[in-house]
Amino acid sequence: MARFPLIAGNWKMHKTVTETLNYIHRFRELVAGIEDREIMIAPPFTALYLAGRELAGTGIRLGAQNAHWAEQGAFTGEISPVMLKECGVTYVIIGHSERRNVFGENDEMIRKRLEGVLKAGLRPILCVGERLEEREAGRTFEVLERQIREALSGFAPGDLGELVIAYEPVWAIGTGRTATPEQAEEAHRYVRGLLGELFGDDFAEKIRILYGGSVKPENIAQLMARPDVDGALVGGASLDPETFSRIVKYETL
Ligand code: PEP
Repeated sequence: MARFPLIAGNWKMHKTVTETLNYIHRFRELVAGIEDREIMIAPPFTALYLAGRELAGTGIRLGAQNAHWAEQGAFTGEISPVMLKECGVTYVIIGHSERRNVFGENDEMIRKRLEGVLKAGLRPILCVGERLEEREAGRTFEVLERQIREALSGFAPGDLGELVIAYEPVWAIGTGRTATPEQAEEAHRYVRGLLGELFGDDFAEKIRILYGGSVKPENIAQLMARPDVDGALVGGASLDPETFSRIVKYETL
């Protein structure tokens, strides 16, 4: 079944408000008229509100890089899904490997964040992926299974209709080392099979699974040619509007 591709940019901790607005002014021109795929950018929290205003009416979706599970409360340094919604956010990245590995987020926190995002009517992009030592030990599927089972435990398929999963092998993030299209397809097929086991095949067939890890114009077309690769989550290469627009267009240099 045809799934609508999603090409998403995760800017991480890059770009001030001014830099974000300059980017958007250029990027909107570069991707104007593209209607056969969804495009998303996730600037830092500080730029979301104005970015949302600049993107209104363009068809480019706004994403956030994380969200807390509560609507408000004594959680210093956190941002709630309701606050993000007001800024015009549609997608929220949850469980990015930098959140897991640098900031100690565990599967239970990720499950709660996902729940908060869904409750606010936003769409989560749940990131999963193995570390290099786990891949080398032949534990890739075991890690993906644990991350997905725990993040999605307690949900009914009807609650998860807008879920997106991003397979991001940790060894490929920011390293320049991309998974081969075969490695990506193998992991995506495994994830889809697991979703089928958990929630039924109809559900699994509808869920978009993005690949993330050193995606660039040189490798996007080969990745997108794989049947279970439904899009990309792009870090470093989404920071330049020209480069990201080439990825959006699957334009190999
Ligand atoms: C990411 O941060 O989600 C990512 C995939 O980064 P990069 O494209 O830089 O590897």
